[in-house]
Amino acid sequence: MNVNQQPHMASPYGQPQPGYQGYPQSGYGGQHVPGGYPAPYAPYNGPASAYQPGPPQGMRGPPTSGAPPVSAAQAYSQFGQGDIQNGPPPLGAPPQRSVFSYTGPPMQQPPVSQPSSFHSGPPPPPTSAAGFPPQGGGPPMSQANHVAPPQPGMLAGPPVPGMAGPPPQPGMQGYPPQQNGAFGQVRGPQPGYAGPYPGQQSYGAAPPAQAPAPPAPKRLDPDSIPSPQASDIPPVQKTRHRIDPDAIPSPIQVIEDDKANKGSEPFVTGVRGQAPPLVTTNFHVKDQGNASPRFIRCTAYNIPCTSDMAKQSQVPLAAVIKPLATLPPDENSPYIVDHGESGPIRCNRCKAYMCPYMQFIEGGRRFQCGFCSCVTEVPPHYFQHLDHTGKRVDCYDRPELSLGSYEFLATVDYCKNNKIPQPPAFIFLIDVSYNAVKNGMVRIVCQELKTLLDYLPRENPDVQSNIRVGFATYNKVLHFYNVKASLAQPQMMVVSDVADMFVPLLDGFLVNVSESRVVIESLLDQIPDMFADTRETETVFGPVIQAGLEALKAADCAGKLFVFHTSLPIAEAPGKLKNREDKKLVGTDKEKSLFQPQVSFYANLAKECVAQGCCVDLFLFPNQYVDVATLGVVPTSTGGSVYKYTYFQAQSDQERFLNDLRKDIQKKVGFDAVMRVRTSTGIRATDFFGSFYMSNTTDVELAGLDCDKTVTVEFRHDDKLSEETGALMQCAVLYTSCSGQRRLRIHNMAVNCCAQLADLYRNCETDTIINFFAKYAYRCVLNNPTKNVRDSLVNQCAQILACYRKNCASPSSAGQLILPECMKLLPVYLNCVLKSDVLHPGADVSLDDRAYLRQLVSAMDVAESHVFFYPRLLPCDTLPVAIRDSEERLSKGGIYLLETGLNLFLWVGANAQQELLQNIFGTPAFGQIDSNMTSLPILDNPYSKRVREIVESFRAQRSRYMKLMVVKQEDKLELIFKHFLVEDKNNSGGASYVDFLCHMHKEIRQLLS
Ligand SMILES: [Zn+2]
Repeated sequence: MNVNQQPHMASPYGQPQPGYQGYPQSGYGGQHVPGGYPAPYAPYNGPASAYQPGPPQGMRGPPTSGAPPVSAAQAYSQFGQGDIQNGPPPLGAPPQRSVFSYTGPPMQQPPVSQPSSFHSGPPPPPTSAAGFPPQGGGPPMSQANHVAPPQPGMLAGPPVPGMAGPPPQPGMQGYPPQQNGAFGQVRGPQPGYAGPYPGQQSYGAAPPAQAPAPPAPKRLDPDSIPSPQASDIPPVQKTRHRIDPDAIPSPIQVIEDDKANKGSEPFVTGVRGQAPPLVTTNFHVKDQGNASPRFIRCTAYNIPCTSDMAKQSQVPLAAVIKPLATLPPDENSPYIVDHGESGPIRCNRCKAYMCPYMQFIEGGRRFQCGFCSCVTEVPPHYFQHLDHTGKRVDCYDRPELSLGSYEFLATVDYCKNNKIPQPPAFIFLIDVSYNAVKNGMVRIVCQELKTLLDYLPRENPDVQSNIRVGFATYNKVLHFYNVKASLAQPQMMVVSDVADMFVPLLDGFLVNVSESRVVIESLLDQIPDMFADTRETETVFGPVIQAGLEALKAADCAGKLFVFHTSLPIAEAPGKLKNREDKKLVGTDKEKSLFQPQVSFYANLAKECVAQGCCVDLFLFPNQYVDVATLGVVPTSTGGSVYKYTYFQAQSDQERFLNDLRKDIQKKVGFDAVMRVRTSTGIRATDFFGSFYMSNTTDVELAGLDCDKTVTVEFRHDDKLSEETGALMQCAVLYTSCSGQRRLRIHNMAVNCCAQLADLYRNCETDTIINFFAKYAYRCVLNNPTKNVRDSLVNQCAQILACYRKNCASPSSAGQLILPECMKLLPVYLNCVLKSDVLHPGADVSLDDRAYLRQLVSAMDVAESHVFFYPRLLPCDTLPVAIRDSEERLSKGGIYLLETGLNLFLWVGANAQQELLQNIFGTPAFGQIDSNMTSLPILDNPYSKRVREIVESFRAQRSRYMKLMVVKQEDKLELIFKHFLVEDKNNSGGASYVDFLCHMHKEIRQLLS
């Protein structure tokens, strides 16, 4: 009830509009405040007051009836600029349009370098000819395109015919009636989409399109007249670029605008319905009642009131939740709240935990649940008086009444079998077969563990970790080690009957590091020597995990297994595998089988592991196919991680492996976790993506949950939502901390509900939508041909954009592509997902790599998926401003860094200035640069220092260590590097950004006609 807001709000909005009550921030309605949010947000800097159910009263006028007064139109016009989430226009910019608009040539002629990509498109309408001279790609075009330099929010297209004056406010055109039927019922099979782009190499079947395309399937719309086949087009046109890449939405521009507009002010979470800064922007968060975007990011912050609207828009409604995310040092970790012996206060009916959305009534004696409206008695020990606004007077003293994220101490009722948990254990299981010894892995692991055991996770850095440790080695048989403190030397016990695994010693296997340090060190010293001369090449794998699981069972605790493994487990044992690598299946309907586990053994084992709270982290060192799809089942079902070091060589790869191992062992982790997402009436969590196990439809079970793991949750309507109350979600994660304490971490999130589609499109987050789409698609490949998965992604995005065009944008010629401001990068990013190695592999991508990437992406947060799909490319001389991922942006005279979150390249142009080379590599000669180097020489000059600092800062931001690869122009390695220049056409037939955008435009037009 923040009365301060009222005068603010009254003016920009004119009449209160039912659709707009959720927009407390006048910054979107009225004048922009340069440099961020200060004025509009000032009222929120104080104690939060906005999280009582519904937005503050001050923002809600009395409902009005009758036609909106004239001033409403005015209000909408101003509000239209709200489309531009990036803040104020630069000085001197032309009036902002909230849409990207370009008069695309695609309809005119097969437009760009790959005419075949568009062969099924309709013939060009003549109307847009003005913008695109039919002849001579280059000069006239680029001239036209450069008339207006790209502006934030208005990526300069060529001058748009018929849009000379100040553009109308697209998106504001009176909100046509909904339910127009044009896009209804869009989910599910589309009659026209059985094979939308037959024979099309870029989006459809993987390989080439020279074969005559089958006749285009009949579409519902009359526009679908096949255009000329590739062979009909004069060759000269095939190589002509007709769209200036500078005229289409630039990821870099969007990223830089967001940094400039949102990076300087803290993001306060108390304002419902507000999209946070992008993941690429550095910003500070103030928790004022909703979870920080570091914990939860949503695809949409205004969700449609009805499921019909949601279906019509096709915008996925999902949240990417990272429950144990690490916060920057200047932000507080969630406070721990203790409600005493009776445990956390909860709603009687839906069991939601006490949070800012509970409304206290009857003088504070009862509270009404924001999720299910049930009224619950306040226990006497929790009673508190209310102030004159109805708020408890202790509201700001209690995290659970004023913050979006906090933890409760759980009572014994929340513990497995109603027993306080034992401290967890870490068990190290090391492959000691021939390959493991020969490539140096065994020696490196044993050496490193001696130090790492001092860095086991602990909550208080001054206290020793109470995590116990155990050790085993294996090839075809298993060796357990007794490292009891009282022993003079470790003892080995061999179990050769791997068919029915058991742990041969109970006392002395799991020990406290500080007590058994001498024995452990002795063991780790001896292991490499004991197996130095092994000839054993065969390994088992299933029994290894079973052994660790049995040990945890025997100790009655949760924990983590660290398995260091080299080869396909072909030795006779449960979980034995065959080599089933068959590249001929790629691109066929049977391709999906390659992503599925080859035996069901591991899924069953995973279930047992989850029941015990046994999380598995797998470090792979393969020299050939190991069947990651199958070996990864247990790690990805238990909240674990898979790391892969193909052709591991101690010298060049140990730095990466050791850094990963150090990070993995030390990172914050919880055990035996169960996550439940509760929602307010009308919406429901229906689907979950990530590394976990589910035994019912609501509980996400994670044997282990670390600070890097995310769970993506999809929501669907089950009733109509109210604009008044918005939609609420509460994510509760019950887990055992690394010190053995049982806790509940709570994250609350409220979003607006909207009756107008325009509000949905104004408050979306494309990076999160892409995270969701990637996870969704990567799961779909398990059961569908990849081509179908790609097609349905393209289809859904076309529907999203067509719905916007139809319902929110101003009428304009069909030759224009109009994109919502918040989604103008959807095409470029979607193309990156479509071209990714999982959905569209090149010939050189192994099946293991694809399975590995599929598993990795499934647990990524938004920042990681963003850089994974659209790598960061930085010129070393103009650090730190990135450039677009295209070869034409590279200068032969320059040096560039490229990172993907997994890979890090330093590309050196053949004509790089001698001075630059000297400064960075210590040699002026291009020819003398050693492309095998994995770290840069430490030279005493600002350039060297700067580049090394940037490399280090990239590494620090990622959960996995990135090995530096130096790529010299024209070198063999350049091919790998170019694969990451994702705006370009790639070798495996993936479309360029320009081509894909044209294709998307065509799809949208077909949906609209
Ligand atoms: Zn309830």
